[in-house]
Amino acid sequence: MAPHDALSEFDLIKHYFVRQRPGRATLGIGDDCALMTPSAGKQIAISSDMLVEDRHFFAGADARMLGHKSLAVNLSDLAAMGARPVAFTLALALPQAERSWLAGFAEGLFALADAFHCELIGGDTTKGPLNICITVFGELAPGQALRRSAAVAGDDIWVSGTLGDARLALAGYRGEQELAPAELLTAAARMHTPTPRVSLGCALAEQGLAHAAIDISDGLVGDLGHILKASRMGATLDVDALPAGPVLAQQETSLRRRYTAAGGDDYELCFTAPTSAREAIAALAASCGTPVTRVGRIEAQSGLRLVDAAGLPLDLALSSFDHFSE
Ligand code: ADP
Ligand code: MG
Repeated sequence: MAPHDALSEFDLIKHYFVRQRPGRATLGIGDDCALMTPSAGKQIAISSDMLVEDRHFFAGADARMLGHKSLAVNLSDLAAMGARPVAFTLALALPQAERSWLAGFAEGLFALADAFHCELIGGDTTKGPLNICITVFGELAPGQALRRSAAVAGDDIWVSGTLGDARLALAGYRGEQELAPAELLTAAARMHTPTPRVSLGCALAEQGLAHAAIDISDGLVGDLGHILKASRMGATLDVDALPAGPVLAQQETSLRRRYTAAGGDDYELCFTAPTSAREAIAALAASCGTPVTRVGRIEAQSGLRLVDAAGLPLDLALSSFDHFSE
């Protein structure tokens, strides 16, 4: 970058992250802190998620996609709690202030932020290895949060959307799985631009239809395991009922089973709800435009039992993703 074209930290923030439009924040970017006034009678839900180069995305990954994904994974946590997005902060470490990268990143970020009326209210910017950390703030009524500890024996287990295509794309990139270019493109869209299930999560919480919920980031079996542990429950999961992504659905059974059950990077919701809520949930899902599928049952007997379509036990030898045990 020519010296006359160099961006200072403050120019960078002003040019790419401050927006000339009124927001909800009482005070947005520019002072030592942002100021927010919560809606009357609401609780604030807060969550952070960090994306690290070579860990969560490949070096050289498309900037627009990173802008989308870094906010999407955070909105997914709000959805899993049943909280409506309000605002977020962005802490960004960048190796250099490159205009085309910043423009692409901001475009992907704000397209998603605007779709969910979530306002950027502050952050921090520093030079360093590429690292994107977002904190989101959402609102919900006290008592309505979809806690991991709230699953009850007899509950249905549901998942939204489809599972496994993001993991299949990873296998395609790694050369572990042969995919046609069009297939890789479709599967990779699930990996790069996940859709946070905000309307579904919020509606489930607001209508009091679901008990426990979690978003599926590390694979269904592992994430459902968090619900089971927090709720001190067990479950039976019908692996063949798991909705596979369109590309994975074309693959052989054993791969389909493994990637739907434990693929990771899906950002769908897994939630539990009483059987009496089945019809209401189907109607609500239709009104949100998000498909949902019943995939199992919460049980008092501890442990997770995987079964096939005939109800026979399956041993998939799965393990959930853990950053420190690889
Ligand atoms: P401080 O010196 O107090 O850390 P900064 O100089 O880092 O403040 O930031 C100045 C203002 O710009 C603050 O309001 C901060 O929240 C905001 N800001 C800094 N980086 C970003 C960013 N990447 N996105 C949005 N706002 C940012
Ligand atoms: Mg600072």
